[in-house]
Amino acid sequence: MLDLPPGIERSDDPALLRQKSRDFYWYSPVLKRQLDGKRGDLWVRPRDEDEVLAVLRACRAARVPVTVRGGATGNYGQCVPLAGGVILDTTALTAPLGIVDGVLEAESGAKLIDLDTYARERGWELRLWPSTKRTATIGGFVAGGGAGVGGLSHGTLRERGNLLGVRVATLEETPRLLDLEGDAAAPVNRTYGTTGVITRVRLPLTPAQAWRDVALGFPTLEGALRFASALSFCDGIPKKMIGVMDARLPPFFRGLAEAVPAGQALVLTMVAPSGLVALRDLLREHGGAWLAEQDAVAAERDPDATPYYEYCWNHTTLQVLKKDRTVTYLQCRFPFEGTVEAVLEIAARFPDEVWMHTECVRFGGRTTMSGLPVIRFTTEERLTEIMAGFEAAGCGIANPHVYTIEEGSNYRRVPGDQLGFKRAVDPLGLFNPGKMASFTPG
Ligand SMILES: Cc1cc2nc3c(=O)[nH]c(=O)nc-3n(C[C@H](O)[C@H](O)[C@H](O)COP(=O)(O)OP(=O)(O)OC[C@H]3O[C@@H](n4cnc5c(N)ncnc54)[C@H](O)[C@@H]3O)c2cc1C
Repeated sequence: MLDLPPGIERSDDPALLRQKSRDFYWYSPVLKRQLDGKRGDLWVRPRDEDEVLAVLRACRAARVPVTVRGGATGNYGQCVPLAGGVILDTTALTAPLGIVDGVLEAESGAKLIDLDTYARERGWELRLWPSTKRTATIGGFVAGGGAGVGGLSHGTLRERGNLLGVRVATLEETPRLLDLEGDAAAPVNRTYGTTGVITRVRLPLTPAQAWRDVALGFPTLEGALRFASALSFCDGIPKKMIGVMDARLPPFFRGLAEAVPAGQALVLTMVAPSGLVALRDLLREHGGAWLAEQDAVAAERDPDATPYYEYCWNHTTLQVLKKDRTVTYLQCRFPFEGTVEAVLEIAARFPDEVWMHTECVRFGGRTTMSGLPVIRFTTEERLTEIMAGFEAAGCGIANPHVYTIEEGSNYRRVPGDQLGFKRAVDPLGLFNPGKMASFTPG
Protein backbone atom coordinates (compact mmCIF):
# COMPACT_ATOMS: atom_id res chain seq x y z
CA MET A 1 0.00 0.00 0.00
CA LEU A 2 1.15 3.51 -0.79
CA ASP A 3 1.33 5.93 2.10
CA LEU A 4 0.40 9.11 0.22
CA PRO A 5 -0.41 12.28 2.15
CA PRO A 6 -4.02 13.47 1.73
CA GLY A 7 -4.60 16.37 -0.63
CA ILE A 8 -2.54 15.05 -3.56
CA GLU A 9 -4.84 14.61 -6.57
CA ARG A 10 -5.12 10.91 -7.46
CA SER A 11 -7.36 8.30 -9.08
CA ASP A 12 -7.51 4.55 -9.54
CA ASP A 13 -10.51 4.66 -11.84
CA PRO A 14 -9.87 1.90 -14.46
CA ALA A 15 -11.05 3.97 -17.43
CA LEU A 16 -8.84 6.89 -16.43
CA LEU A 17 -5.87 4.59 -15.83
CA ARG A 18 -6.33 3.08 -19.28
CA GLN A 19 -6.30 6.55 -20.82
CA LYS A 20 -3.37 7.82 -18.73
CA SER A 21 -1.23 4.79 -19.57
CA ARG A 22 -1.08 5.52 -23.30
CA ASP A 23 0.79 7.79 -25.66
CA PHE A 24 1.13 7.82 -29.46
CA TYR A 25 2.92 4.44 -29.65
CA TRP A 26 0.09 3.19 -31.86
CA TYR A 27 1.81 4.91 -34.83
CA SER A 28 3.89 1.74 -34.83
CA PRO A 29 2.15 -1.58 -35.50
CA VAL A 30 5.09 -3.26 -33.72
CA LEU A 31 4.75 -1.20 -30.53
CA LYS A 32 0.97 -1.49 -30.69
CA ARG A 33 1.29 -5.26 -30.49
CA GLN A 34 3.79 -5.03 -27.64
CA LEU A 35 2.26 -2.24 -25.53
CA ASP A 36 -1.51 -2.46 -25.88
CA GLY A 37 -3.01 -3.29 -22.49
CA LYS A 38 -0.07 -2.12 -20.33
CA ARG A 39 -1.25 0.16 -17.58
CA GLY A 40 -0.45 1.82 -14.27
CA ASP A 41 -2.27 1.19 -10.98
CA LEU A 42 -2.62 4.72 -9.67
CA TRP A 43 -2.59 8.14 -11.34
CA VAL A 44 -1.35 11.10 -9.27
CA ARG A 45 -0.99 14.76 -10.17
CA PRO A 46 1.25 16.70 -7.76
CA ARG A 47 0.87 20.48 -7.65
CA ASP A 48 4.38 21.40 -6.54
CA GLU A 49 7.82 19.99 -5.77
CA ASP A 50 6.83 19.12 -2.19
CA GLU A 51 4.03 16.93 -3.51
CA VAL A 52 6.39 15.35 -6.08
CA LEU A 53 8.77 14.43 -3.26
CA ALA A 54 5.92 13.10 -1.13
CA VAL A 55 4.84 10.79 -3.97
CA LEU A 56 8.42 9.62 -4.50
CA ARG A 57 8.94 8.96 -0.77
CA ALA A 58 5.81 6.80 -0.70
CA CYS A 59 6.81 4.91 -3.87
CA ARG A 60 10.35 4.34 -2.66
CA ALA A 61 9.13 3.02 0.71
CA ALA A 62 6.68 0.62 -0.95
CA ARG A 63 9.04 -0.16 -3.89
CA VAL A 64 6.41 0.91 -6.41
CA PRO A 65 7.45 1.92 -9.98
CA VAL A 66 6.95 5.54 -11.09
CA THR A 67 6.30 6.51 -14.69
CA VAL A 68 6.30 10.24 -15.41
CA ARG A 69 3.72 11.58 -17.84
CA GLY A 70 3.62 15.04 -19.42
CA GLY A 71 1.51 15.73 -22.50
CA ALA A 72 1.72 12.01 -23.46
CA THR A 73 2.53 12.79 -27.09
CA GLY A 74 5.60 10.52 -27.21
CA ASN A 75 5.72 8.07 -30.12
CA TYR A 76 7.62 5.15 -28.63
CA GLY A 77 5.53 4.28 -25.58
CA GLN A 78 7.94 6.31 -23.47
CA CYS A 79 5.31 7.00 -20.82
CA VAL A 80 3.54 3.62 -21.00
CA PRO A 81 4.15 1.86 -17.65
CA LEU A 82 5.54 -1.60 -18.39
CA ALA A 83 5.42 -2.76 -14.77
CA GLY A 84 2.33 -0.99 -13.40
CA GLY A 85 2.74 1.34 -10.43
CA VAL A 86 2.21 5.07 -10.22
CA ILE A 87 1.71 7.39 -13.17
CA LEU A 88 3.08 10.75 -12.05
CA ASP A 89 1.36 13.42 -14.15
CA THR A 90 3.26 16.73 -14.38
CA THR A 91 0.52 18.80 -15.97
CA ALA A 92 -0.24 20.79 -12.82
CA LEU A 93 3.38 22.05 -12.67
CA THR A 94 2.87 24.76 -15.25
CA ALA A 95 4.40 28.02 -14.09
CA PRO A 96 6.91 29.96 -16.17
CA LEU A 97 9.32 31.19 -13.50
CA GLY A 98 11.04 34.02 -15.35
CA ILE A 99 13.41 35.13 -18.10
CA VAL A 100 16.85 36.48 -17.26
CA ASP A 101 19.32 37.46 -19.99
CA GLY A 102 17.39 35.45 -22.61
CA VAL A 103 17.20 32.31 -20.45
CA LEU A 104 13.77 30.94 -19.58
CA GLU A 105 13.14 28.96 -16.42
CA ALA A 106 9.87 27.08 -16.14
CA GLU A 107 8.15 24.26 -14.32
CA SER A 108 8.36 21.05 -16.30
CA GLY A 109 4.65 20.51 -16.97
CA ALA A 110 4.22 23.83 -18.79
CA LYS A 111 3.05 23.46 -22.38
CA LEU A 112 5.54 24.66 -24.98
CA ILE A 113 2.96 26.94 -26.62
CA ASP A 114 2.32 28.68 -23.28
CA LEU A 115 6.03 29.15 -22.67
CA ASP A 116 6.48 30.53 -26.18
CA THR A 117 3.63 32.99 -25.59
CA TYR A 118 5.21 34.05 -22.30
CA ALA A 119 8.56 34.53 -24.05
CA ARG A 120 7.02 36.41 -27.01
CA GLU A 121 5.38 38.89 -24.67
CA ARG A 122 8.94 39.73 -23.59
CA GLY A 123 10.50 39.86 -27.10
CA TRP A 124 11.83 36.28 -27.15
CA GLU A 125 10.74 32.91 -28.51
CA LEU A 126 11.72 29.26 -28.00
CA ARG A 127 14.70 28.14 -30.07
CA LEU A 128 13.24 24.70 -30.69
CA TRP A 129 9.91 22.97 -30.46
CA PRO A 130 8.34 19.71 -31.56
CA SER A 131 5.41 19.88 -33.95
CA THR A 132 3.32 18.96 -30.86
CA LYS A 133 4.10 22.42 -29.42
CA ARG A 134 0.40 23.01 -28.70
CA THR A 135 0.03 19.90 -26.51
CA ALA A 136 3.47 18.77 -25.31
CA THR A 137 5.22 19.85 -22.10
CA ILE A 138 8.72 21.22 -21.77
CA GLY A 139 9.72 18.36 -19.43
CA GLY A 140 8.45 15.79 -21.92
CA PHE A 141 10.34 17.47 -24.77
CA VAL A 142 13.59 17.26 -22.77
CA ALA A 143 13.01 13.71 -21.49
CA GLY A 144 11.35 12.18 -24.56
CA GLY A 145 11.96 14.26 -27.70
CA GLY A 146 14.44 16.92 -28.63
CA ALA A 147 14.25 17.73 -32.34
CA GLY A 148 11.92 19.78 -34.47
CA VAL A 149 11.05 23.29 -35.60
CA GLY A 150 14.07 25.57 -35.16
CA GLY A 151 16.48 22.68 -35.64
CA LEU A 152 17.69 24.21 -38.89
CA SER A 153 19.30 27.05 -36.94
CA HIS A 154 19.89 25.52 -33.52
CA GLY A 155 20.34 21.78 -34.02
CA THR A 156 18.69 19.53 -31.45
CA LEU A 157 18.33 19.66 -27.67
CA ARG A 158 21.46 17.51 -27.51
CA GLU A 159 23.64 20.36 -28.81
CA ARG A 160 25.60 21.80 -25.92
CA GLY A 161 23.95 25.08 -24.88
CA ASN A 162 20.38 24.23 -25.90
CA LEU A 163 19.50 22.82 -22.45
CA LEU A 164 21.05 24.93 -19.73
CA GLY A 165 19.81 23.20 -16.62
CA VAL A 166 17.17 21.13 -14.85
CA ARG A 167 15.97 20.42 -11.36
CA VAL A 168 15.29 16.75 -10.89
CA ALA A 169 13.67 14.73 -8.09
CA THR A 170 15.34 11.41 -7.23
CA LEU A 171 14.34 8.01 -5.88
CA GLU A 172 17.28 7.66 -3.52
CA GLU A 173 16.66 6.24 -0.07
CA THR A 174 15.53 9.73 0.85
CA PRO A 175 14.22 11.32 -2.35
CA ARG A 176 15.54 14.86 -2.91
CA LEU A 177 15.86 17.61 -5.50
CA LEU A 178 19.09 18.07 -7.47
CA ASP A 179 19.97 21.14 -9.54
CA LEU A 180 22.00 20.16 -12.60
CA GLU A 181 23.64 22.73 -14.83
CA GLY A 182 25.14 22.50 -18.33
CA ASP A 183 26.74 19.13 -19.12
CA ALA A 184 25.64 17.87 -15.69
CA ALA A 185 22.04 17.88 -17.01
CA ALA A 186 22.86 15.38 -19.80
CA PRO A 187 21.80 12.34 -17.70
CA VAL A 188 18.17 13.48 -17.83
CA ASN A 189 18.25 14.59 -21.48
CA ARG A 190 16.18 12.11 -23.53
CA THR A 191 16.24 9.34 -20.92
CA TYR A 192 12.46 8.81 -20.94
CA GLY A 193 12.01 9.67 -17.25
CA THR A 194 14.26 6.79 -16.15
CA THR A 195 16.65 9.14 -14.34
CA GLY A 196 14.31 11.28 -12.24
CA VAL A 197 11.33 13.58 -12.33
CA ILE A 198 12.31 16.87 -13.93
CA THR A 199 10.53 19.61 -12.00
CA ARG A 200 12.18 22.65 -13.59
CA VAL A 201 13.91 23.37 -16.88
CA ARG A 202 16.19 26.22 -17.99
CA LEU A 203 16.38 26.93 -21.72
CA PRO A 204 18.03 29.65 -23.80
CA LEU A 205 15.70 31.67 -26.03
CA THR A 206 16.16 33.50 -29.33
CA PRO A 207 14.78 36.93 -30.36
CA ALA A 208 11.14 36.65 -31.52
CA GLN A 209 10.32 36.84 -35.24
CA ALA A 210 6.94 37.37 -36.94
CA TRP A 211 7.22 34.07 -38.85
CA ARG A 212 5.29 33.56 -42.10
CA ASP A 213 4.16 30.07 -43.07
CA VAL A 214 4.72 29.63 -46.83
CA ALA A 215 3.65 26.69 -49.05
CA LEU A 216 5.56 26.20 -52.32
CA GLY A 217 4.83 23.73 -55.15
CA PHE A 218 7.25 21.93 -57.49
CA PRO A 219 6.66 19.70 -60.51
CA THR A 220 9.00 16.99 -59.13
CA LEU A 221 10.30 15.71 -55.79
CA GLU A 222 13.83 16.35 -57.01
CA GLY A 223 12.98 20.00 -57.75
CA ALA A 224 11.49 20.43 -54.28
CA LEU A 225 14.51 18.79 -52.60
CA ARG A 226 17.03 20.89 -54.54
CA PHE A 227 15.14 24.07 -53.66
CA ALA A 228 14.90 23.08 -49.97
CA SER A 229 18.58 22.26 -49.86
CA ALA A 230 19.49 25.61 -51.47
CA LEU A 231 17.21 27.47 -49.04
CA SER A 232 18.72 25.67 -46.07
CA PHE A 233 22.13 27.07 -47.06
CA CYS A 234 20.82 30.63 -47.69
CA ASP A 235 22.24 32.41 -44.66
CA GLY A 236 20.58 35.68 -45.73
CA ILE A 237 17.06 34.27 -45.29
CA PRO A 238 16.01 33.83 -41.63
CA LYS A 239 13.99 30.61 -41.42
CA LYS A 240 12.68 28.29 -38.75
CA MET A 241 11.63 25.25 -40.77
CA ILE A 242 11.83 23.65 -44.24
CA GLY A 243 9.87 20.45 -44.84
CA VAL A 244 9.62 18.56 -48.17
CA MET A 245 6.78 16.18 -49.05
CA ASP A 246 6.36 14.05 -52.13
CA ALA A 247 3.18 14.51 -54.16
CA ARG A 248 1.27 11.70 -52.41
CA LEU A 249 1.23 13.50 -49.05
CA PRO A 250 -0.45 16.94 -49.55
CA PRO A 251 -3.89 15.43 -50.37
CA PHE A 252 -4.00 14.26 -46.72
CA PHE A 253 -3.39 17.79 -45.36
CA ARG A 254 -6.82 19.07 -44.35
CA GLY A 255 -6.89 22.85 -44.76
CA LEU A 256 -4.00 22.93 -47.22
CA ALA A 257 -4.70 20.17 -49.74
CA GLU A 258 -6.89 22.39 -51.93
CA ALA A 259 -4.00 24.82 -52.46
CA VAL A 260 -1.63 22.15 -53.83
CA PRO A 261 -2.15 21.13 -57.49
CA ALA A 262 -2.38 17.35 -57.98
CA GLY A 263 0.97 15.71 -58.59
CA GLN A 264 3.02 18.58 -57.12
CA ALA A 265 5.72 18.05 -54.49
CA LEU A 266 5.39 20.48 -51.61
CA VAL A 267 7.84 22.57 -49.58
CA LEU A 268 6.54 24.08 -46.34
CA THR A 269 8.71 26.73 -44.77
CA MET A 270 8.61 29.31 -41.97
CA VAL A 271 10.45 32.45 -43.03
CA ALA A 272 10.87 35.84 -41.34
CA PRO A 273 9.23 38.77 -43.16
CA SER A 274 12.68 40.17 -43.99
CA GLY A 275 13.41 37.00 -46.00
CA LEU A 276 10.32 36.94 -48.21
CA VAL A 277 11.75 38.89 -51.17
CA ALA A 278 14.84 36.68 -51.30
CA LEU A 279 12.61 33.60 -50.95
CA ARG A 280 10.65 34.64 -54.05
CA ASP A 281 13.88 35.18 -55.98
CA LEU A 282 15.19 31.75 -55.01
CA LEU A 283 11.84 30.19 -55.88
CA ARG A 284 11.89 31.77 -59.35
CA GLU A 285 15.38 30.39 -59.92
CA HIS A 286 14.12 26.88 -59.08
CA GLY A 287 10.89 27.05 -61.10
CA GLY A 288 8.56 26.61 -58.13
CA ALA A 289 5.15 28.18 -57.42
CA TRP A 290 3.99 30.22 -54.40
CA LEU A 291 0.85 28.34 -53.33
CA ALA A 292 -0.24 29.79 -49.98
CA GLU A 293 0.94 31.89 -47.07
CA GLN A 294 -0.27 32.67 -43.54
CA ASP A 295 0.77 34.37 -40.31
CA ALA A 296 2.42 31.45 -38.49
CA VAL A 297 2.29 32.99 -35.02
CA ALA A 298 -1.41 33.85 -35.28
CA ALA A 299 -2.22 30.38 -36.69
CA GLU A 300 -0.67 28.50 -33.78
CA ARG A 301 -2.70 30.58 -31.34
CA ASP A 302 -5.99 29.97 -33.17
CA PRO A 303 -7.57 26.61 -32.24
CA ASP A 304 -9.39 26.55 -35.60
CA ALA A 305 -6.24 27.11 -37.67
CA THR A 306 -3.34 24.77 -38.51
CA PRO A 307 0.17 26.15 -38.30
CA TYR A 308 2.19 24.63 -41.16
CA TYR A 309 4.47 22.84 -38.69
CA GLU A 310 1.46 20.63 -37.91
CA TYR A 311 1.89 19.19 -41.42
CA CYS A 312 5.61 18.71 -40.79
CA TRP A 313 7.90 16.68 -38.53
CA ASN A 314 5.96 13.83 -36.95
CA HIS A 315 2.65 15.45 -37.82
CA THR A 316 2.99 14.43 -41.47
CA THR A 317 2.38 10.80 -40.52
CA LEU A 318 -0.50 11.78 -38.22
CA GLN A 319 -2.21 13.68 -41.06
CA VAL A 320 -2.08 10.50 -43.16
CA LEU A 321 -3.07 8.19 -40.28
CA LYS A 322 -6.23 10.25 -39.76
CA LYS A 323 -7.47 8.88 -43.10
CA ASP A 324 -5.46 5.71 -43.63
CA ARG A 325 -4.53 3.41 -40.72
CA THR A 326 -2.44 1.09 -42.91
CA VAL A 327 0.65 3.29 -42.84
CA THR A 328 3.46 3.80 -40.37
CA TYR A 329 6.73 5.74 -40.54
CA LEU A 330 10.50 5.80 -40.11
CA GLN A 331 12.99 8.31 -38.80
CA CYS A 332 16.41 8.73 -40.34
CA ARG A 333 19.22 11.13 -40.96
CA PHE A 334 20.50 11.51 -44.51
CA PRO A 335 24.24 11.94 -45.17
CA PHE A 336 25.71 15.45 -44.96
CA GLU A 337 27.26 15.12 -48.43
CA GLY A 338 25.11 14.12 -51.40
CA THR A 339 21.97 14.59 -49.27
CA VAL A 340 19.52 15.10 -52.12
CA GLU A 341 20.99 12.19 -54.09
CA ALA A 342 20.60 9.88 -51.06
CA VAL A 343 16.94 10.90 -50.64
CA LEU A 344 16.29 10.27 -54.32
CA GLU A 345 18.06 6.89 -54.18
CA ILE A 346 15.78 5.76 -51.34
CA ALA A 347 12.70 7.11 -53.13
CA ALA A 348 13.66 5.17 -56.27
CA ARG A 349 14.46 1.99 -54.31
CA PHE A 350 11.02 1.89 -52.62
CA PRO A 351 8.75 3.72 -55.09
CA ASP A 352 5.45 2.45 -53.67
CA GLU A 353 6.10 1.82 -49.98
CA VAL A 354 8.05 4.95 -49.04
CA TRP A 355 6.24 8.29 -49.33
CA MET A 356 9.12 10.67 -48.95
CA HIS A 357 9.12 13.41 -46.35
CA THR A 358 12.25 15.24 -45.19
CA GLU A 359 13.04 18.12 -42.84
CA CYS A 360 16.13 20.32 -43.15
CA VAL A 361 18.18 20.24 -39.94
CA ARG A 362 21.58 20.96 -38.53
CA PHE A 363 23.63 18.48 -36.52
CA GLY A 364 26.88 19.62 -34.96
CA GLY A 365 26.97 22.72 -37.18
CA ARG A 366 26.41 20.79 -40.43
CA THR A 367 23.21 20.99 -42.43
CA THR A 368 21.43 17.95 -43.84
CA MET A 369 17.93 16.46 -43.97
CA SER A 370 16.15 14.25 -41.49
CA GLY A 371 13.66 11.88 -43.04
CA LEU A 372 10.29 11.03 -41.54
CA PRO A 373 8.82 9.16 -44.51
CA VAL A 374 5.41 7.59 -44.35
CA ILE A 375 5.67 3.85 -44.96
CA ARG A 376 3.00 1.62 -46.44
CA PHE A 377 3.04 -1.17 -43.84
CA THR A 378 2.72 -4.82 -44.77
CA THR A 379 4.75 -6.96 -42.32
CA GLU A 380 7.32 -6.42 -39.59
CA GLU A 381 9.85 -8.34 -41.69
CA ARG A 382 9.34 -6.01 -44.64
CA LEU A 383 9.69 -2.98 -42.33
CA THR A 384 13.07 -4.34 -41.21
CA GLU A 385 14.11 -4.81 -44.85
CA ILE A 386 13.15 -1.23 -45.66
CA MET A 387 15.22 0.05 -42.71
CA ALA A 388 18.18 -2.00 -43.98
CA GLY A 389 17.69 -0.38 -47.40
CA PHE A 390 17.93 3.07 -45.82
CA GLU A 391 21.13 2.10 -44.02
CA ALA A 392 22.61 0.72 -47.23
CA ALA A 393 22.10 4.16 -48.80
CA GLY A 394 24.14 5.77 -46.00
CA CYS A 395 21.24 6.87 -43.76
CA GLY A 396 21.31 6.61 -39.98
CA ILE A 397 18.07 5.06 -38.69
CA ALA A 398 16.42 6.10 -35.42
CA ASN A 399 14.10 3.13 -35.14
CA PRO A 400 10.67 4.35 -33.94
CA HIS A 401 9.39 0.78 -33.52
CA VAL A 402 11.26 0.01 -30.26
CA TYR A 403 10.66 1.32 -26.75
CA THR A 404 14.07 1.23 -25.08
CA ILE A 405 16.42 4.22 -25.13
CA GLU A 406 19.32 2.11 -26.35
CA GLU A 407 17.61 0.42 -29.30
CA GLY A 408 16.06 3.63 -30.63
CA SER A 409 19.07 5.26 -32.15
CA ASN A 410 22.78 5.82 -32.03
CA TYR A 411 22.82 9.31 -33.41
CA ARG A 412 20.19 10.55 -30.97
CA ARG A 413 21.94 9.41 -27.78
CA VAL A 414 23.04 12.22 -25.53
CA PRO A 415 26.68 11.96 -24.45
CA GLY A 416 27.19 11.37 -20.73
CA ASP A 417 27.03 8.64 -18.12
CA GLN A 418 23.28 8.15 -17.92
CA LEU A 419 23.59 4.62 -16.60
CA GLY A 420 25.90 5.74 -13.78
CA PHE A 421 23.56 8.60 -12.92
CA LYS A 422 20.59 6.24 -12.87
CA ARG A 423 22.40 3.88 -10.49
CA ALA A 424 22.98 6.84 -8.16
CA VAL A 425 19.53 8.43 -8.21
CA ASP A 426 17.37 5.32 -8.70
CA PRO A 427 19.27 2.31 -7.36
CA LEU A 428 16.14 0.15 -7.17
CA GLY A 429 15.23 0.88 -10.79
CA LEU A 430 11.76 2.21 -10.01
CA PHE A 431 11.69 5.02 -12.60
CA ASN A 432 9.96 3.77 -15.79
CA PRO A 433 11.29 0.19 -15.51
CA GLY A 434 12.21 -1.52 -18.78
CA LYS A 435 12.99 1.62 -20.78
CA MET A 436 16.73 1.83 -20.04
CA ALA A 437 17.75 -1.63 -21.21
CA SER A 438 21.33 -1.44 -19.96
CA PHE A 439 20.22 -0.92 -16.34
CA THR A 440 19.86 -3.82 -13.95
CA PRO A 441 18.94 -3.11 -10.32
CA GLY A 442 21.96 -3.46 -8.01
C1 LIG B 1 1.99 14.16 -34.10
C2 LIG B 1 3.29 14.11 -33.37
C3 LIG B 1 4.33 14.95 -33.75
C4 LIG B 1 5.56 14.95 -33.05
N1 LIG B 1 6.58 15.77 -33.46
C5 LIG B 1 7.76 15.76 -32.77
C6 LIG B 1 8.83 16.62 -33.15
O1 LIG B 1 8.73 17.43 -34.06
N2 LIG B 1 9.98 16.56 -32.42
C7 LIG B 1 10.12 15.74 -31.34
O2 LIG B 1 11.17 15.74 -30.69
N3 LIG B 1 9.11 14.92 -30.97
C8 LIG B 1 7.95 14.92 -31.64
N4 LIG B 1 6.93 14.12 -31.24
C9 LIG B 1 7.07 13.35 -30.00
C10 LIG B 1 6.58 14.16 -28.78
O3 LIG B 1 5.46 14.91 -29.12
C11 LIG B 1 7.60 15.16 -28.25
O4 LIG B 1 8.82 14.55 -27.98
C12 LIG B 1 7.11 15.90 -27.01
O5 LIG B 1 8.03 16.91 -26.70
C13 LIG B 1 6.89 15.02 -25.80
O6 LIG B 1 6.36 15.84 -24.77
P1 LIG B 1 5.21 15.30 -23.82
O7 LIG B 1 4.95 16.32 -22.77
O8 LIG B 1 4.04 14.86 -24.60
O9 LIG B 1 5.97 14.06 -23.18
P2 LIG B 1 5.39 12.64 -22.74
O10 LIG B 1 4.96 11.88 -23.95
O11 LIG B 1 4.41 12.82 -21.66
O12 LIG B 1 6.70 11.99 -22.14
C14 LIG B 1 7.79 11.66 -22.95
C15 LIG B 1 8.83 10.95 -22.09
O13 LIG B 1 9.37 11.87 -21.17
C16 LIG B 1 9.13 11.46 -19.83
N5 LIG B 1 8.78 12.67 -19.08
C17 LIG B 1 7.77 13.53 -19.33
N6 LIG B 1 7.82 14.56 -18.46
C18 LIG B 1 8.88 14.32 -17.64
C19 LIG B 1 9.44 14.99 -16.53
N7 LIG B 1 8.94 16.15 -16.07
N8 LIG B 1 10.49 14.44 -15.90
C20 LIG B 1 11.04 13.28 -16.35
N9 LIG B 1 10.55 12.60 -17.39
C21 LIG B 1 9.49 13.12 -18.04
C22 LIG B 1 8.02 10.45 -19.88
O14 LIG B 1 8.14 9.49 -18.84
C23 LIG B 1 8.26 9.82 -21.24
O15 LIG B 1 9.25 8.83 -21.11
C24 LIG B 1 5.72 14.08 -31.95
C25 LIG B 1 4.66 13.23 -31.57
C26 LIG B 1 3.47 13.24 -32.26
C27 LIG B 1 2.37 12.33 -31.82
